[in-house]
Amino acid sequence: MRSFTHTALPMRVVFGPGSLTRLPEEVAALGLTRVLVLCSPEQAATGQLVADALGDRAAGVLAEARMHVPVEVAHRARGLAAELGADGCVAVGGGSAVGLGKAIALEHGLPVLAVPTTYAGSEMTPVWGLTAEGVKKTGRDPRVLPVSVVYDPELTLTLPVAMSVTSGFNAIAHAVEGLYAPDATPIVSLTAAEGVRALVSALPRIAAVPDDLEARGDAQYGAWLCGAVLGATTMSLHHRLCHALGGTLDLPHASTHTVVLPHALAHNAPAVPDTIAALSAAMVGVTDPARALWDLAGDLGAPRSLVELGMTGDDVDRIADQVLATPYANPRAVTRDGLVALLGRALDGGAPVAG
Ligand code: NAD
Repeated sequence: MRSFTHTALPMRVVFGPGSLTRLPEEVAALGLTRVLVLCSPEQAATGQLVADALGDRAAGVLAEARMHVPVEVAHRARGLAAELGADGCVAVGGGSAVGLGKAIALEHGLPVLAVPTTYAGSEMTPVWGLTAEGVKKTGRDPRVLPVSVVYDPELTLTLPVAMSVTSGFNAIAHAVEGLYAPDATPIVSLTAAEGVRALVSALPRIAAVPDDLEARGDAQYGAWLCGAVLGATTMSLHHRLCHALGGTLDLPHASTHTVVLPHALAHNAPAVPDTIAALSAAMVGVTDPARALWDLAGDLGAPRSLVELGMTGDDVDRIADQVLATPYANPRAVTRDGLVALLGRALDGGAPVAG
């Protein structure tokens, strides 16, 4: 029997179709009277809708959230929050909006409420990120963990199928790495397996019928669980690779996760039989989860090569150097040759093989 230490992070979740109507209650229950609503420019209308629903409790809307939280945007958001006398933030959107709320919380300590509209899972983690001059810094701070999360699957009906699939893979990646994380615990493992099960079942149904609310709800349920796993565990090789690829080459976040995951999992598979068993059971009838994830991405029309995302063969050495210079924990040793081979397969879109 293995030993472990489990620490539960605080978590308040309001879940279900139509639950956006509960947001004003959530804000009021926290005693907040002037919240700043944050969203991406593309979701300005959704941000305004949320502000309208909050009425007098909304101090303003800032529709400037961007991927990887550029420091300039964080400075503007922090300045606006101070200028408006905001006492909290409501982040509506994907990881970018939530990330901006976290950037404000990190400096001003304002509580963040999250209304997620993708499956990225950031709303369940105390992990923040800030990007300055092409370099992304990340850290953990309990102050940035949202105090309340309102999951309303109706808000995800507009998320295009392509983004829904890659965002779902982003969530699955959190669960996969949580299963073999050095700080995994029995609760983390159960949560991860259930998150994968829910997402693997939901994504094909969303691809077939994008307005299937039941499937959207299942995907959001899976994203919640997978996000919670990321919040509770240490990231490994897969996330290290994606952070290097995103930070250095500015590759799109969710698509990069989708392409890299089968290859990172195949690399680690020989060292993590329990993870392979858990994933095989969660994915029902599967014996090689890395191959099954690669097949699923292909079946659902998701990208399977980094070339499609803008990477070239010239970038491989640079990324390998970066990953080796500042490695994350990993269950299997990572050699330069192994890494270059893994990146080569991900670059070309070949099937995953244990390196
Ligand atoms: P995103 O938040 O950047 O959103 C991508 C695009 O989709 C945006 O244009 C957004 O407006 C649009 N969009 C979102 N929801 C929509 C909807 N329902 N309908 C229509 N359009 C919608 O993408 P993301 O993948 O959710 O987040 C990526 C960012 O989150 C990255 O910066 C990543 O590093 C971060 N992240 C952080 C954590 C963490 O724990 N800190 C975890 C996962 C991701």
